[in-house]
Amino acid sequence: MRTGVYFCQVEQTDGLNLDAVAKYASNLPEVETVEVLGVRPQLSPQKLAESLKQLRIERVVIAGDQPGYYKPIFARSMALAGHDPTEVRLASFRARGATSQYSLERAKAIVACATMAVPYALAAIPAETPVHPATLIIGGGVAGIQAALEIADAGKQVYLVERTGTIGGHMAMFDKTFPTLDCAACILTPKMVAVGQHDMIDLITNSEVTEVSGAPGAYRAKILKKARRVDPKACVACSICSDVCPISVPSDFDANITTRKAIYVPFPQAVPNVYLVDAANCTYVKNRKCGACAKKCPKECINLDEKDETIEIDVGNIIIATGYDVLDAGKVERYGYGKHPNVLTALEFERLTNASGPTGGRIVTRTSQFNKRLKQDEWVFDPAGPPPKSVAIIHCVGSRDASYNPYCSRVCCMYSLKFAHLVKEKLHDAACYEFYIDMRAFGKGYEEFAERIKQEGAFVVRGRSATVTEAHGQLVVKGEDIVNDRLLEFPVDMVLLAVGLIPPQGTEALSKMLGVTQGPDGWFSELDYNGNPTDTERGGIYVAGMCQAPKDIPDTVAQASAVAAGVLRSISSGRGIGHWDTLSLSEIEAKARSLASAMQNPG
Ligand code: FAD
Repeated sequence: MRTGVYFCQVEQTDGLNLDAVAKYASNLPEVETVEVLGVRPQLSPQKLAESLKQLRIERVVIAGDQPGYYKPIFARSMALAGHDPTEVRLASFRARGATSQYSLERAKAIVACATMAVPYALAAIPAETPVHPATLIIGGGVAGIQAALEIADAGKQVYLVERTGTIGGHMAMFDKTFPTLDCAACILTPKMVAVGQHDMIDLITNSEVTEVSGAPGAYRAKILKKARRVDPKACVACSICSDVCPISVPSDFDANITTRKAIYVPFPQAVPNVYLVDAANCTYVKNRKCGACAKKCPKECINLDEKDETIEIDVGNIIIATGYDVLDAGKVERYGYGKHPNVLTALEFERLTNASGPTGGRIVTRTSQFNKRLKQDEWVFDPAGPPPKSVAIIHCVGSRDASYNPYCSRVCCMYSLKFAHLVKEKLHDAACYEFYIDMRAFGKGYEEFAERIKQEGAFVVRGRSATVTEAHGQLVVKGEDIVNDRLLEFPVDMVLLAVGLIPPQGTEALSKMLGVTQGPDGWFSELDYNGNPTDTERGGIYVAGMCQAPKDIPDTVAQASAVAAGVLRSISSGRGIGHWDTLSLSEIEAKARSLASAMQNPG
C-alpha cells in the first residue's frame, strides 16, 4: 500500500531523534512520503486531503507520542480524498516506553510495524524464558500485601521488601474507606497478620532493594537490610524501651501531627509487631551517648551496635508496588500550609480523625501550649481542645494545575467527601464546605456517596477557592461559587487540603535499576495501558497499585490480584516473557512483513 507517514507530537518527546526515525521510515519500501509536522501542528483536513489525493496515499501512519489525538483529522482527510478512512494506523512512541534507552531502535520498529498494519506487540514478541519460582515484591502497602498473599497461598515463595518498619502502607493510616465507610483496619489488619505468619512469605522490613541483575525469569536482587537493632524473635513489644528513650521526633505514621520516640513501633497493629531503632535520631547510634533502652530492656534484645547487612536472593519475577507520596502542601503558597496551624493536609486529617490516632479520633483544632521540656510554646492537638465550628475542604490542591501536577489524583474528590461525612458525623453542628472544580465520583457507588454527603448537610460549592488567610486569629477562605455566580469570603476554624499525589521518593532510582520507564508524570509505565496494564516493558517485572498511577483501594487490589495471576501463570508454566528488546530492528521488520503477508493471504 502506498503509505504516508506523518510525525505529530502532542508534547516534545525528550531524547528521541525524530529526524533519524523519519529518515528510516522514508527508506521503507511501502512509504511514499514522510512529513515531520512538529508539536501540536495546526492541521487542515482539506489541505491534507488534497495532498493525500495528489500522492495517491492509501494508508496513513501517524507517528508520535499520542498519535490517537490526530486520528480523527487524518481519517476525515482520507474520506475527503475518497480513500478508505479506516486505513489510518497509529505508531505510538509512548507505548512500551519508546523513550527509554532503547528508544531510537524501538521507535523505528514501531513505525515499521504500523506501515505494515501489524501490531508491534505481535512482531516484537519476546522470546520465552525459564522462570525461577520465587517472587520479589517491592513495597508492602495493600498492593504488595494482596499480591504476596495470592502468590504465597498458591504455594510459591515470596520475598516482600518494605522500606519502613511495618507493612500496611497508607491504608493503615485510614479510619474509614470511601464509599462504604468500612473500617480500614478491619479489612487490612487480617491481611497484614496473614503476611506476617505465612510460611511462604519472607517479610523483609526496614530494607531496600539496591541492585538487580540478571534477566527475565532469573533475576538476582541485592537487599540492604538496615539494622533494626532489636531482635524480632525476642521483642515482646512491652514499650519499656520507648518509655525511657529521651528523644522525641515527629511520627511519620501519624503524618507528623504528633511525636514518637527514637526506638518505636510505628503503630500498635504493625507487622512485624516489634520495636526498631531510628538510627538517624538515636543519640547512641550517632555519638555513643545514652543507651538507656538497651539497659532497661527486660528481654535484653536490643543491640544498638548491630550493623546493616546486604543479602542476595534469586527470583523469577519482580512486582513493583511502591505506592505514592503526597505533594508538599507548602508549595501551594496561597493556602498557607505551614503558616497557619489549622490548615491541615488530608493525611494529617486522616490521623486526627482516626480512633487510634493521637486524639482518639476527636476532631479538635490545634492549640498553643507551653512545652516544659523544650521551654517554648508549641502547637498541639490536645484531645480536650476545642472542636472546629466550621471546616472548609479544598479539592485539587496541586492537582489538575500546570504549575504542580497537571493530572488528576483521582482519589481526592472521594476522600474529601469522606472527610465531610466524618466532620458532620462527629460534630453535628459544625458547618462544612467543600470547594471542588469538577466532582469525580466515577466508581461503583461513588455518585450515590456524593449525593449522600450533600444530604448530610455539607455545603458543596463548585469553584476554585483562591486563598486562605488569617485575620484576628481566624482563618478566612476566599473563593468563587461559579454555579451561583458570586465570590465568597467567610471565616472557618479549620481548612483541609486535598493535596495531589506524586510518585514516591526513590522512584527514579528504582526505574533505572529495574529498567522500567516512568511516564511523563513520573509514575511507572505499564506495557500497554489498555491491553496489558500490569506488565512492563521489562519481562518478568510488573506494576501493581498506585505506583503505576493514582487509583483507589478497590482498583489497587484488583490490579495486584491480576499481577499475582500473571506471576503464577509464568511460574506454573515454567515460562515467562523475556526482554522486549531481544529481537533486532531488522528481525522485527522481517517478522512484521511476513505477518502482513500472512494476513493478506490467510490461506
Ligand atoms: P501505598 O499505600 O503507598 O503503599 C506503598 C508501600 O511501598 C509503602 O508501605 C511504602 O513504604 C513502600 N515503599 C515505597 N517505596 C519503596 C521502596 N523503594 N522499597 C521498599 N518499599 C517501598 N482509597 C480508597 O479506596 N478509599 C479511601 O477511603 C481512601 N482514602 C484516602 C485518603 C487519602 C488522604 C489518600 C491520600 C488516599 C486515599 N485512598 C483511598 C487511596 C489509597 O491510599 C490507595 O489506593 C492505596 O493506599 C494504594 O496502595 P499501594 O499499596 O499501591 O500504595
